[in-house]
Amino acid sequence: MTLLDGKYVSNQIRDEIKSCVSSLLSAGGKAPHLAVIIVGHDPASETYVANKLKACEQVGFRATKIALPETITEQQLLSYIDSLNHDDDIDGFIVQLPLPGHIDETKVIEAIDFRKDVDGFHPINVGRMTLGFSSFVPATPSGIVELLRRYGIVVAGKHCVVVGRSNIVGKPVATLLMQKGMDATVTICHSQTRDLKALCLAADIIITAVGQPGLLTADMVKDGAVVIDVGITRVDDPLSPKGYHLRGDADFDAVAPKCSFITPVPGGVGPMTITMLLKNTLQAYHNLHNNNQ
Ligand code: NDP
Repeated sequence: MTLLDGKYVSNQIRDEIKSCVSSLLSAGGKAPHLAVIIVGHDPASETYVANKLKACEQVGFRATKIALPETITEQQLLSYIDSLNHDDDIDGFIVQLPLPGHIDETKVIEAIDFRKDVDGFHPINVGRMTLGFSSFVPATPSGIVELLRRYGIVVAGKHCVVVGRSNIVGKPVATLLMQKGMDATVTICHSQTRDLKALCLAADIIITAVGQPGLLTADMVKDGAVVIDVGITRVDDPLSPKGYHLRGDADFDAVAPKCSFITPVPGGVGPMTITMLLKNTLQAYHNLHNNNQ
């Protein structure tokens, strides 16, 4: 069994991005600039945003955090988005989700200029990705594909079972894997799927993105399968300094010995996600400065 070390691969990619930024700067260009809007004080969102800003700093990007109060109206938030759309100094930006209940996330995503939508959530980017055109691809699915690629795991002709059908993980990763060139045969499962165990047992590659620790047990995994565990759940742990530890969807200790490859949680898909956001920001910079789109 080989651990898919997302931290290691992600550091490799960050080094590559860093050297691109150095070349841009030595050619007299500016560093790519990412803006992150966060609304309210959700602790998990605050942590994600802090990590994104730190990653930008690490590769030499400029980063701007726009922290808005929980009470902001939808219209006010849309005005901020409009100003970022028109700010030539911002190459890409994201609005950290989830948003407070009184704000319509769909409206917010649709308001972002798709050329600056480095999260890849705008319908134009989703449509272009589905058609196999160049687009921003959501960071987690693209991180999964990159991890498979860098470990030389061939997906062509393999049966991939994706557990979870969210717009940010399940659907886009399934779409990417079935594209021409990737050529996987994909089965998508969700909460209404009958006999998840039988489907998973038939899989060469299982990608689980549910958020239920212990969902994927050893008797659901065939010998030699690849398991990509996207799930991240905080489980109370009074012995840990933080008061919790992170768990994936797979019952790791029992599942890992059966696998050819498996991602740990934490340290698997998680680090790749932020790194792919950096890659998208670099792509946005090139698109905007070379008028590619
Ligand atoms: P969502 O809650 O949006 O989606 C969960 C999916 O799981 C849904 O499609 C749901 O089905 C399905 N599901 C729920 N119960 C079952 C079940 N018993 N059997 C099969 N499918 C089930 O979650 P996200 O996609 O946003 O995130 C999933 C997990 O991945 C979370 O733990 C999240 O924290 C983590 N995550 C990790 C990231 C990383 O960087 N590593 C990035 C993004 C997410 P239905 O559609 O029918 O409700």
